[in-house]
Amino acid sequence: TSSHAALVIIGTGMAGVGLARALRRLGDQRSITLVSADSGDDYSKPLLSTGFAKGLAPEQLTQRSAAELGEELTAQMVIHTQVDALDVDNQTILLEDGRVLGYDTLVLATGAAPRLPFSLEPSVAPRCFAINDLDDYRHFHSALGHGPARVAIIGAGLVGCEFANDLHAGGHHVSVIAPEGSLLPRLLPPPLGNALSDAFSEAGINLHLGRSIDSITSESDEDIVLRLDNGDTVSADLVLMATGLAPRTALAEAAGLSVSPSGIVVDRQLRTSHTHIYALGDVACVDGVNAMYVQPLQASAKALAATLSGTPTPVSFGAWPVVVKTPLLPVVAYPPTTTPERWRIEGEGGDISALAENKDGRLIGFALTGGCVRRKVELSRAAPALLG
Ligand code: FAD
Repeated sequence: TSSHAALVIIGTGMAGVGLARALRRLGDQRSITLVSADSGDDYSKPLLSTGFAKGLAPEQLTQRSAAELGEELTAQMVIHTQVDALDVDNQTILLEDGRVLGYDTLVLATGAAPRLPFSLEPSVAPRCFAINDLDDYRHFHSALGHGPARVAIIGAGLVGCEFANDLHAGGHHVSVIAPEGSLLPRLLPPPLGNALSDAFSEAGINLHLGRSIDSITSESDEDIVLRLDNGDTVSADLVLMATGLAPRTALAEAAGLSVSPSGIVVDRQLRTSHTHIYALGDVACVDGVNAMYVQPLQASAKALAATLSGTPTPVSFGAWPVVVKTPLLPVVAYPPTTTPERWRIEGEGGDISALAENKDGRLIGFALTGGCVRRKVELSRAAPALLG
């Protein structure tokens, strides 16, 4: 069977849904079909790493069901359905159930998938999780059960640190294991990462930094044992993998679109290398930048909606810092895109500001912790735009 829509969007994350919403807001009435491999429920992904502290059930994170979303957007929703291939010559996509969907315009908003650096033994795999969408949250939430659990988190980036803080606040016993020497290594220079480590350690989160994992094993239903490269072991009920995200470029690549390790290559108008096909969100590398957070994808949705409704609009990204949700020590970071000449670091205890400067002494990025996060607005005004 085959059907057709003027606009087909693959992905119902914030990027795909944001685009459909922006189009309708402009009064655009073309037929839209949204396709998603997941439940298609409308939710805010950033809230996933704040749900355990508040004891939120997955239903409480669902803002709208896929059906309600379809009604709001007057769009056809095709859910729990993977897109297997794009046929760019015939302007169709192939669904896993064999259906073929035609489009005039195709938008790829397929997001990014957790990167798993090693394979897991069958005895532990069912108790190792990654949380990157509402369905993942559902699975982890039910595995946690009611009592406090021991959770070993692998990875010290934004996702690992936010879940560490959140699960700790939810009453669980948390360990963090990562090869880097300090927390948030890509966002914070070490003195600020260490301030976050101090706040985590004081709260009772166990940190194993500068350590890699030799093995993860378990005998039947017993403890999961993570053996570290220094011989230490960490016992856990559940493991949370927070080992990074990779843009889901496979569909685009197989169809011959230009892709890079940072995502599907698009220009400022979000155009891929093929006519009638656009990309935005975590999967898209816009003029060399893939920011993987909400503000850039919202700006992209707005610009693309204008472009598709007849006003070609290049997107630009401002100096939008990342606000890390670690209430144990608030963190704001706008990492420099080139290696700074020097970091100017001031402050004491948990209240530190770090300014990255180039060789002319110009501000090119910053990182703030504790009370210093209040300098966010002032420094954002002074820093260069991410994509000016
Ligand atoms: P996704 O939400 O990943 O959506 C991808 C969609 O594509 C899904 O619907 C999926 O089912 C579908 N899909 C993929 N492949 C296929 C296929 N082959 N066929 C059919 N469908 C397919 N950003 C911030 O700015 N602030 C924050 O505080 C923040 N916190 C975060 C906390 C966590 C725990 C995480 C994981 C991320 C956080 N981010 C935050 C990042 C932000 O959430 C993401 O940048 C954003 O949600 C990405 O949206 P997206 O629509 O591009 O991708």
